[in-house]
Amino acid sequence: MSVHAAEAPTELSPAPTPPTELPASTPPTEPPARAPECASAESVERYLDVAADRLGLPDGIRTVVRTPEREVHVQLPIRLRDGRMHVFSGYRVQHNSTRGPYKGGIRYEPHVSLEEMRALAALMTWKTAIVNVPFGGAKGGVDCPAKDLDDTELELITRTFVDKIADVLGPTRDIPAPDVNTDAGVMAWMMDEYGKLHGDTPAVVTGKPVSLGGSLGRESATGRGVVHAYTEAARTLKLDPGATRVAVQGFGNVGSWTARVIAGLGCRLVGVSNTSGAIASDVGIDPHALVRHMAAGGRLVEYPDGAGAVGVQAISGEELLALDCDVLIPAALGGAINAGNVDSVRARLVIEGANNPITWQADEALGDRGVLVVPDVLANAGGVIVSYFEWAQNLQHFSWDEREVNDRLAKRMRNAYAEVAQRAGANRTSLRVAAYELGVERVLEAGRLRRHRGYA
Ligand code: NAD
Repeated sequence: MSVHAAEAPTELSPAPTPPTELPASTPPTEPPARAPECASAESVERYLDVAADRLGLPDGIRTVVRTPEREVHVQLPIRLRDGRMHVFSGYRVQHNSTRGPYKGGIRYEPHVSLEEMRALAALMTWKTAIVNVPFGGAKGGVDCPAKDLDDTELELITRTFVDKIADVLGPTRDIPAPDVNTDAGVMAWMMDEYGKLHGDTPAVVTGKPVSLGGSLGRESATGRGVVHAYTEAARTLKLDPGATRVAVQGFGNVGSWTARVIAGLGCRLVGVSNTSGAIASDVGIDPHALVRHMAAGGRLVEYPDGAGAVGVQAISGEELLALDCDVLIPAALGGAINAGNVDSVRARLVIEGANNPITWQADEALGDRGVLVVPDVLANAGGVIVSYFEWAQNLQHFSWDEREVNDRLAKRMRNAYAEVAQRAGANRTSLRVAAYELGVERVLEAGRLRRHRGYA
């Protein structure tokens, strides 16, 4: 774990106090995840290079759009309840702002690093351009073990982080959102801390609680967007939802909403996993019953046979990826499908719910086998689309009902998918190559029109 606890007393340290017990509120249900996004940087750079080659981008411009415009790394000295001073690192990488203010999540995870933030910030630049929302790309995080911390500690980390990066944030500068291990509550603290410095500013973050200016429909938006991607891809593959077997890796925000919405179309959820393990059922698992089971404190892997499913078996995480299914939706972490396990994937359609869940090597192997992959920059863009709606509602001091949000989301996802698919069809490329080409073209056009140095 990358918490830098000072071992010996320093001027930052108090007299040592005995470590206290973790509070009862610490979620007992999941062991820590492994290092995520292991292959992010390499894959994102490669996808950009492929698009840049195809578009004939000169080296200079290529370097401009590859390199982040600004990187902020701050020290966060936080006294935790064990009495010690822990020095965390907080990052905000602002990759590109030619199309609008920087936009991207904040994650709390022990493995957060500058390199990973760079890759994920670039991914956001391409994603916002591909789905044509008026934002650039950013990503941030703190290398803290969020799952072992209580609310008081998380709040202290959040407020300290905002104090140190407030100068580069703002509704027309950079607008954070929730990501892994951060949620609406963390966004409320961020908004509140920023407001102390600059006056009340709801539009400085998205993914807030609805009662503080959050948008209806934001929580489910990424999962809903993944399902729109399924609907469009299913048309191409002539998959009938009533006969579609789906496996989902990850049952957090993206995975659980994807599972619930896709089940509503009549698809059968034949397997699902999280860090506690994986379960499968040939008959199908009711994702709503599974959500209830987990909300009551149950672990996913202990989901009982008979509670909304028959023939439920515990399987390994690797077996989940190799399940006999039509659609596989990795919605957990980066690098999940890689050179080591790609040959075992049996799905015809893989939809990237997570960011970078497939390494570029595995992506090529799937393409060679004729597996259709809907890339993250398109498939999981529902979150940033509804974040855009939330920001727009905040700026107008107005709110839309949930149906309006969902309808607008559906329209934007359909349009973006159609644009990417049409280009992929015309040029005989993968959806990913077409998506990156589209994103890069839009960023270049904005840079040129603004006459930003480096884009001429
Ligand atoms: P989350 O923390 O709510 O859920 C992550 C889930 O993945 C948890 O169920 C966790 O147990 C599971 N998981 C972690 N490691 C695993 C493993 N090895 N095997 C199986 N399951 C594992 O996070 P989230 O918000 O759902 O985000 C998931 C991914 O989607 C991330 O890559 C994130 O960047 C991306 N994403 C999220 C959003 C959003 O709106 N939340 C939008 C776009 C992209």
